[in-house]
Amino acid sequence: MSEKKLRFNSKTIHGGQQPDKAYGAVMPPIYQTSTYAQTTPGGHKGYEYSRSANPTRTALENALASIENGSYGLAFGSGLAAMDAVIKLLSPGDEVISTNDLYGGSYRIFRQIFEKYGIVFHFVGMQDVDVIAEKINKNTKLIWVETPTNPMMNIIDIKAVSKLAKKHEILLAVDNTFATPYLQQPLDLGADIVMHSATKYLGGHSDVVVGALVVKDKELADRLYFIQNASGAICGPMDSFLVLRGIKTLHVRMQRHCENGRAVAQFLSQHPKIEKVYWPGFENHPNHEVAKKQMKDFGGMVSFVTKGNSYENAIAIVEKLVVFTLAESLGGVESLAGHPASMTHASIPKAEREKSGVVDALIRLSVGIEDEADLISDLEQAIG
Ligand SMILES: *Cc1c(COP(=O)(O)O)cnc(C)c1O
Repeated sequence: MSEKKLRFNSKTIHGGQQPDKAYGAVMPPIYQTSTYAQTTPGGHKGYEYSRSANPTRTALENALASIENGSYGLAFGSGLAAMDAVIKLLSPGDEVISTNDLYGGSYRIFRQIFEKYGIVFHFVGMQDVDVIAEKINKNTKLIWVETPTNPMMNIIDIKAVSKLAKKHEILLAVDNTFATPYLQQPLDLGADIVMHSATKYLGGHSDVVVGALVVKDKELADRLYFIQNASGAICGPMDSFLVLRGIKTLHVRMQRHCENGRAVAQFLSQHPKIEKVYWPGFENHPNHEVAKKQMKDFGGMVSFVTKGNSYENAIAIVEKLVVFTLAESLGGVESLAGHPASMTHASIPKAEREKSGVVDALIRLSVGIEDEADLISDLEQAIG
């Protein structure tokens, strides 16, 4: 059976993978080497130096391409290193349109690293495609989408944005970290580049920092590979192995993340002390129809606001949680809670963050795969 015909849940295990050529090892060995013996100058077995390529990284890159329905995968030292490579496709004077509810680190690399090289960034509410269209001009070279957004769980219609991008011959990149290919496959919806912080759900065990890009087009892959090798922000063999191992259980983990996410969202929405719950699975979520259309399920990320919008109360809740760990990051097997106003969004002025909904009492949960009843009783005791 051709590997391309495998269904997603089989691709996570077999996609792009073959037993190792040397001894038939079922898992690719961790080729912890920088260089490779040559028989004559240039006489090697496909690998000459590990910045350019390493067999363990190749195994991960092939797996990434397979699960995202792409043709080429590239693994980087972090999600932001992967983004860095995408922006390096651009030249001074080029313009980028992105969402105003963007991962903080993405906003920082755009504004504080690349703006000074003459690249211009616009941040708009991307739930309305017309708002994106208004910002397009002849210099627009890239649209950068993140959906669901963080921490407000807005959903952007990838297919609609892709139509617009194609009409104007603009590259479309989608940060698929929150959804993972289990829930949505942006390349199938018309995106040119999929980006991941594999640190999150793909790795899935909070033990590694890795980034990834996947594309279909050979020429685009060549340009990105050139940057990966020339700038050098690659992913090492040990980290490649860990993410590869994580990917093999992505579908089972995601299924449970979604089930637990749903249970937690429903519990919170019925709680008398909770003002608002942000989860795209609710029928009254403003982008629910788009979420239903482009996602298989609604994921394990849930944000909520307590009544009275008290900063102190929110802090007290996250400190009282026992099964949920108070920590940055997301997407691991363990449940995490975060307080954006004092953690991820602390550097944004209060008035500014509140415009996008990041109020003092907002709490963000990355719902893990523990027993659902334990998660709910933990929230129950912490909210009081
Ligand atoms: C974490 C994250 C990133 C950055 O990835 P790193 O691996 O931390 O560099 C980018 N986008 C989203 C949505 C993230 O959650």
